[in-house]
Amino acid sequence: MTKGNINVSVENIFPLIKKFLYSDHEIFLRELISNATDATLKLKHLTSIGEAKVEYGTPKIEVKIDKEQKTLRIIDQGIGMTAEEVEKYINQVAFSGAEEFLEKYKDSAKDSGIIGHFGLGFYSAFMVAEKVEILTKSYKDETAVRWICDGSPEFTLEETTDKTDRGTEIILHIAEDSTEFLEESKIRELLSKYNKFMPVPIKFGTKTHTLPLPEDAPEDAVAETEEVDNIINNPTPAWTIAPSELTNEDYMKFYHELYPMQFEEPLFNIHLNVDYPFNLTGVLFFPKLSNNLNIDRDKIQLYQNQVFVTDEVKGIVPDFLMLLRGVIDSPDIPLNVSRSYLQADGAVKKISSYITKKVADKMSSLINENREDYEQKWNDIKIVIEYGIITEEKFAEKADKFTLYPTTDGKYFLWNELIEKIQPLHTDKDGNTVILYATNADEQHGYIQSAKDKGYEVLLLDSPVISHVIQKLETSKEKISFARVDSDHINNLIKKDEPVISKLNDTEKESLKKNVEDAVKDAKFTVQLEDLDSSDAPFTITQPEFMRRMKEMQATGGGGMFGMGNFPEMYNLVVNSNSELSSQILKTENTEEKESLIRYALDLAKLSQNLLKGKDLTDFIQRSYKQLEK
Ligand code: ADP
Repeated sequence: MTKGNINVSVENIFPLIKKFLYSDHEIFLRELISNATDATLKLKHLTSIGEAKVEYGTPKIEVKIDKEQKTLRIIDQGIGMTAEEVEKYINQVAFSGAEEFLEKYKDSAKDSGIIGHFGLGFYSAFMVAEKVEILTKSYKDETAVRWICDGSPEFTLEETTDKTDRGTEIILHIAEDSTEFLEESKIRELLSKYNKFMPVPIKFGTKTHTLPLPEDAPEDAVAETEEVDNIINNPTPAWTIAPSELTNEDYMKFYHELYPMQFEEPLFNIHLNVDYPFNLTGVLFFPKLSNNLNIDRDKIQLYQNQVFVTDEVKGIVPDFLMLLRGVIDSPDIPLNVSRSYLQADGAVKKISSYITKKVADKMSSLINENREDYEQKWNDIKIVIEYGIITEEKFAEKADKFTLYPTTDGKYFLWNELIEKIQPLHTDKDGNTVILYATNADEQHGYIQSAKDKGYEVLLLDSPVISHVIQKLETSKEKISFARVDSDHINNLIKKDEPVISKLNDTEKESLKKNVEDAVKDAKFTVQLEDLDSSDAPFTITQPEFMRRMKEMQATGGGGMFGMGNFPEMYNLVVNSNSELSSQILKTENTEEKESLIRYALDLAKLSQNLLKGKDLTDFIQRSYKQLEK
């Protein structure tokens, strides 16, 4: 038997391991299973090239709890280690690896941006164990060895006949403060979190499997059962398989495996696969989002060689794609670095722009393959695309090919189609093309109707980030502006060179304006007289485009230079001076009657803009009933 000291420069590394990795104790299991997986895959490689003259078979990794003995064991059938290799890999390599990792970790421990904690490896076992044993037998024909270390720098290493089959068994004698890791439920949770898609089958206990009844079985026959290995992982998840070998059903099945609590089917998937200039595989799913910006649950998961690392992918995946779901697997993403470093990392930047490009390409091909289907899905995907347009320049550049502009009549236009369709009707006397839109077909019904009566096309743009998109489009497209249908009277939104006919003379107009202002007495409303058709509504409330848009942009984050301060609510009260009501107001002698006429009309205008509420609404209704009873 050999006794020895692990070559330490830090007096005692184990308390440090415990202390520094406090919040992440559970990763020990991931690390040990990763080692077991590596050892198994190494053997696979060695047998395939004829280096190892043993039967590879169908190896698995087993995780076992013994509550009485207070042990947790991880058993593999991989290459194993000789005594010499334990000395080298565990006492020297693994130890110096752990030491180096701790050095790094100590400096950045306060940086909560650390993602993943790869690199600690074998010694992470001491975060939860007071004593660790390695029982290992190499694939080379040598006696098995047992290594024991109790968390001090001393260890023992001896030959043993206790192990006769090839592979390594790591026995953790779980420490008093870590007994949660002796709970089956806890281990099951960890296995499903970190190891669900690892490449070697992982067994945790057994389960009862019901055998199918033979076809000619009598009706009251009871099916036989058998105990089978409970394999907790899927060693060949969809992203490791070539897209040509997968059906849509396979992708859906994988989606549900990935998110067991997610019952709704995703709309479509994007298979990622690059090997130059970096390695990356993965599958992204477009869930049905509608206008939902809640991305807290079921996020994109990051793996390295099928080992779960994190679902905090900020910095790796562009922000707008965080609304998607799925998996990204890349050995090329540096993990034990802070997030700010990550964002500046060249490889990571390339990965992020690759994913962006891939998503843009997929959108283009989807709309080309089946326009109708794409239109139907538009409502559920638009938020991702619109978010991408406002945050990723590269994406925005391509977006005209697959961004749809729906109309209130249920038609869908691409940008070019839209412009072609509405020009020249929507072009005003100064040569600007004005795109009319509504954000709510019901609430803005009257305004939409007035625009349609003039032959105009009205878009229905109702996503929460649309004001940002519009703002961006206006700056990138020349001589194009957007106006919500209720931002002014339609005649003013698209000004044409048409003669105006005034029923009233200037003096009459002046007194009409004064009458209305005196009666309204509300600083929110600016009275604006217009010579409209006599058939147009006498009073209309409009909300100027600029103010409203800035307000909305502020509410959904940003708003650029206007982001500071609060925008007051401002409305225009458009009074149609050619209307019958305007003449009537002027004619009415009695001030009280005049005021009541104006207020009634104002209430009606408010009602059509959804602005009449509370007491004002109640009063209005009571007044209206009285009117009926007269
Ligand atoms: P890393 O896995 O990053 O190399 P570890 O500290 O986890 O670092 O392990 C150090 C070394 O110990 C491994 O590189 C491997 O050679 C050896 N080792 C660890 N676990 C096993 C195992 N289950 N079977 C065979 N060798 C192992």
